[in-house]
Amino acid sequence: MNADPLEIQKFSELAHRWWDPTSEFKPLHEINPLRLEWINARAALAGKKVIDIGCGGGILTESMARKGADATGIDLSDKALKVADLHSLESGVQVRYELIAAEDMAAREAGQYDVVTCMEMLEHVPDPGAIVKAAATLVKPGGHVFFSTINRNPKAYLYAVVGAEYLLRMLPKGTHDYGKFITPSELAQFVRAAGLQVDGLKGMTYNPLTKIYSLNQDTSVNYMVACSRPL
Ligand code: SAH
Repeated sequence: MNADPLEIQKFSELAHRWWDPTSEFKPLHEINPLRLEWINARAALAGKKVIDIGCGGGILTESMARKGADATGIDLSDKALKVADLHSLESGVQVRYELIAAEDMAAREAGQYDVVTCMEMLEHVPDPGAIVKAAATLVKPGGHVFFSTINRNPKAYLYAVVGAEYLLRMLPKGTHDYGKFITPSELAQFVRAAGLQVDGLKGMTYNPLTKIYSLNQDTSVNYMVACSRPL
């Protein structure tokens, strides 16, 4: 299977703190409004059938459902999915969660989704190209696919590993493996090989002094890619 058991375990061990905005997941809580608005501006989520691959505790999945999407979240961490499910029950937002690999879901529900999202997940899997392929299979012709990951260069190592894990201690040590980071051109190759087209690229930066995240053209560390499946 295209999953690293240690990665899944790492997220499972932290899962009970997923919705604590001061926890290890604080960065995900803080970037969520930014990425949600970016996705919504491009894909108009209301009424759309959406699948979130590697949804974890459901921060993005639930927020897309709040925008009116018919949202499904999939992950391989049972604990994260239980937390996601409980949270959606508590907040009264309807979301469907399922423990299933992206490739298996693609075989079962090919071409059934208007929008596919896969955020902060590709850098944790052995074969990211296969996940991109699964996302391309899940989306309908004319539909949108969004990915986010971390670039691979000395600055990304400094910010995403040394800065976030060691200096600022925003993330537990070992959260990210530099060797698994993906450059925008590598991701674009996976995207094109899967039959999708790249529509846009967005950088996401963190200012350690103001502690504020923003979206801009700086893709040197964190970035997102908007893609679509041609009709
Ligand atoms: N996408 C969410 C969570 C990111 S954390 C968000 O951005 O808010 C990374 C998630 O990827 C974790 O929940 C982890 O369990 C999941 N994951 C890692 N490898 C996976 C795989 N091979 N298949 C599915 N999910 C995976």
